[in-house]
Amino acid sequence: MKFVSTRGQAAPVTLSEAIRNGAAPDGGLYMPEELPRLRGCPREETLSQFAAEMLAPFFEGDRLEGELEAICRQAFDFPVPLVLADQARPNFRVLELFHGPTGAFKDFGARFLMASFDRIGDPSNPLTVLAATSGDTGGAVGCAAEGREAVRAMVLYPKGRVSAFQELQLTCWDEPVQALEVEGDFDDCQRLVKAAFASPELSLAHRLTSANSINIGRLLPQMAYIAFAASRAFAESGVEPGFLIPTGNLGHGFAAVYARALGFPVGPIVLVTNANRTLADWHGTGDYSPRASLATIANAMDVGTPSNFERLVHLAPEQRVLDVQLVEDDTIRARVQAEYRAGGYIWCPHSATAAEAYARLSDEQRAERPWIAAATAHPYKFADAVEPLIGVKIEAPPALEAILGRKAEKTSIPAELSALAEALKEQKLEVV
Ligand SMILES: *Cc1c(COP(=O)(O)O)cnc(C)c1O
Repeated sequence: MKFVSTRGQAAPVTLSEAIRNGAAPDGGLYMPEELPRLRGCPREETLSQFAAEMLAPFFEGDRLEGELEAICRQAFDFPVPLVLADQARPNFRVLELFHGPTGAFKDFGARFLMASFDRIGDPSNPLTVLAATSGDTGGAVGCAAEGREAVRAMVLYPKGRVSAFQELQLTCWDEPVQALEVEGDFDDCQRLVKAAFASPELSLAHRLTSANSINIGRLLPQMAYIAFAASRAFAESGVEPGFLIPTGNLGHGFAAVYARALGFPVGPIVLVTNANRTLADWHGTGDYSPRASLATIANAMDVGTPSNFERLVHLAPEQRVLDVQLVEDDTIRARVQAEYRAGGYIWCPHSATAAEAYARLSDEQRAERPWIAAATAHPYKFADAVEPLIGVKIEAPPALEAILGRKAEKTSIPAELSALAEALKEQKLEVV
């Protein structure tokens, strides 16, 4: 299978080239040249086996084809339970995507991508993933890169602007992962990363690559867990489940839409945003106007320009039928409280937007099918916001507890390209 750009001005590439490139050279996003034909729904018991089967058509003819099973084993090495949040609402299921090593669903994409990069790169001249981060992606990428040989990771974060736990999660990983604390804000970090990519010298010498949400290597694993959950719920109930998906960059929101287009038993899809209105406005009026992002308590969804939007509108209109719900901070807080009172379930602020979207469905919609809410992060990661709302202490799950015992290591740099170039060079000497 070949992959083409949503903008149609770039040469078709293989899957591993699309993963290596991230964005297409014309600025578009890679999509499969054609929708692969579903050869019946896989019946595998584990997500890892299911993913290897369902993703096989995307890997056909690629140099990674023979590695797909191993990549899936490494990416999907933690449970993905579908649980009840409240015994009184048996049709309402929670797909817990936060049992990976860094407690958020970013682990799926980061592990799949790093396992792929490690097989695309060359240990004597490794790829370098350069990531500016303020949230869950940097930790997930660092964790997934630890111990690898053909890819290293350098994570840039703004000094003094991440929580103590977030900082630990960015700085605690061993070789070949390096955390750079930048004297500046998140925009400075992003500016540095962009400048490094734009420098042919740095980009070639270090084989720079990115792990951001448009990489097809993140879309594929996210599609796999949606399709897996849909197939399980469908096998049980005989009805295609609806999906409620908290979204910012349209990463796994688009994955759900695409999984349905492929023929998996996915029913109606509700994309749920925080107060950032771009998607809701587009859905309401048909006009797409990106805006600056607003800060909310569901901060991993603070996106004014959803980077995967281009993929969504690339689909035929009948393939992308969906609803969009917008949930303001006060409503998120009230929902976290109401859910805790009702069933004792603790939602993180992001995932609570999906619980709110469930509450907004009509009785008829709720009665006709199971609904699956994607829970994107463990509430422990957002204990500062959630504990005061519910009045109890949230225990760290074992994976996050393990991070608490690790040692932090970082390098501080001024927000200048020359300092980043120096750091890249130094780490390179250690690796080789
Ligand atoms: C990244 C993230 C989201 C948003 O996901 P997208 O794929 O960007 O739409 C939601 N919740 C959490 C906890 C996240 O880390």
